[in-house]
Formats: sequence, structure tokens, C-alpha cells
Amino acid sequence: MKYLGLILDGRWLFDEHFRQLAPKLVGAASALGRLLPNMGGPSVATRRLYTGVVRSMALYGAPVWAAALTAQNRVRLWRPQRVMAVRAIRGYRTVSTEVACALAGTPPWDLEAEVLAEVYRRVADYRAESGFRPPPEDVREWREAARRATMARWSFRLETPRAGFAAVEALQPVIAEWAGRQHGTLSFRLTQVLSGHGCFGKYLHSVARRELSPACHHCDCSEDSAQHTLAVCPAWAAQRRALTAVIGVDLSLPAVVRSMAGNDSCFYRGRKILRGSNLAEGGGVEGPGGRPPLGPDPPPANRAAEARLPQPHAALSVAAGGRGGFPLHPH
Ligand SMILES: [Zn+2]
Repeated sequence: MKYLGLILDGRWLFDEHFRQLAPKLVGAASALGRLLPNMGGPSVATRRLYTGVVRSMALYGAPVWAAALTAQNRVRLWRPQRVMAVRAIRGYRTVSTEVACALAGTPPWDLEAEVLAEVYRRVADYRAESGFRPPPEDVREWREAARRATMARWSFRLETPRAGFAAVEALQPVIAEWAGRQHGTLSFRLTQVLSGHGCFGKYLHSVARRELSPACHHCDCSEDSAQHTLAVCPAWAAQRRALTAVIGVDLSLPAVVRSMAGNDSCFYRGRKILRGSNLAEGGGVEGPGGRPPLGPDPPPANRAAEARLPQPHAALSVAAGGRGGFPLHPH
């Protein structure tokens, strides 16, 4: 039975409601996501606005169904949220749901549904007892309390991530601070460093499958990760000195995230250094032996699309004169 936009069933599980809603959410998220390229495109404010459109569709009637949310229906909410979170942070679509939501600072929508349900319940209780609407400041306080509880639940959930372990480990201890900060927007390159999904040997080898080895192009390190580029690789010593002058000598990802979450000056100056240094692109086309940057759009997520890319062995033959000629551009 359909009532006020919700599809009700005899068992109060809302399974049919979410079964019908899920493709609409994914369709809307995908359509809006296509308007949000990683480089250039709409501002962060617009990206948040688009995310809000899909979120409103998803959370319609949340006070009614929040307590009855099944595991399957939680997953149905995560899919469109993931699409929007990835576009909001200008990330590659290989970034995990947990990392994308954490970097975007948007709690999972199933937890946000609980905030709406809790506030609705308290307002209803107040009206039932007094016969009046509660004062706005009371509602604000209830909302804040519910939100704090949600952040605690989100933080607890992030203690056992299913993917993106390094990024989640860095974000989890400061997730409330990171999500609630009023400063700093993520750039294409900064997201690569924080997520580890970008122009790094480890990612290009094991996830994007564009390189035969995860080794660094600049030193003897056998695995070029975001952390290696950030804290170890001698090729980026000058940029690293500039970075440590801003955020301190600890360049572990948790320390970098903590600094950026807590201090707007650290955030903006750190982001500027990373952008100016090309650090997140493994040196770009300018550095000797450097990798040309990955394209601005996420790498293809399916095999059919991957098949259209230059294959590693073909790329190697093209790059016979040196690894710097490695043709990585997907488009
Ligand atoms: Zn290196």
C-alpha cells in the first residue's frame, strides 16, 4: 500500500519501498554525478547541494522507517551515497564507500535517518505531553545531541572498516572534527594523497592495473604509496620541507589529517603545497622519470572499459626509452 509517498507492507519492513526507491536514487546520483567532473566543474557548495538533493530523496519518511531498517536496505542507501560522496571529494570511483563518506564528512545516511527519527520522536512526545510545539532552541538542542550520538556511532563503525584501511585509520579518530570543520575543501590532488587512490605505483599496479610493478620511479623503494611520496621519497625533499614547516615533522597520514582537521591554516597551506608541488601526481610530466598524471576522471570500473586502455606490455614497448614515457592517460 502506498501512503504519503511511502510503500507500506504488512511486516513493516519497507522492503518494497526501498526496492523501488534504490534505482531511482542511483539514477539521480549518477545523473548528477555526471555534472561533477573531478577537475574544474561546479564548486564544493554546488556539489553539496547536489548531494543534498539525493539525500532528501533517500531520507524521505526516515522517522517512520529508521527503526525498521534492514541490512539489505542499508546497502541500498549506501550505493547512491557513495556515488555522491566520490563526486563531492573529486575522487576516483575505486575509493571505498567508507573513505569517500569520511573524506566528504557525510555520515552514512542510515545513521542520519536515526537523527531525523530521534528528533521527530522528541518533538512528538513534547506535543503529546504539552499540547504545544516545542521551542526552536529545544529542537536545535535535541538535533545536536542526536548528531553527536550519530558521530559517535559512525566513529565506532569506522573502527572496523572493510576497505581503505590507511585512510580510515587516519580519519576515524578525528572524524567528528573533520566532518564538522568549517574550513578547507578537498582538491583533486589532495584527495589522491588522503585516499591513496591516485598516481602512485601501489595503486596503479594493484588497483588500476596500469603498471607492472608498484615500485617508485624515483628511488629504490619497491612500493610507491601515497605515504612513501608524502614522507619518504627523496625526490620530494624540498616539498616535504615546506610541508613539515607547516604541519610539523610527523608526516604520517593520521598526523597530516589531524593537522588539517584542526587548523584552517594547516589545511590551506598544506593543500597549496601539495598542489604546487605536484606531489600527488608523482611528479607529473616535469620530473625526470616522473609519471604523467592520471586523467581527471575516475579510471574505468569495469573490464570492458579497461580493455580499451593501453595494455601494460604495449605501454612498456612504447616507453622503451625510459619509464617517464609511460602512457597512462586513459582518455
Ligand atoms: Zn621514491
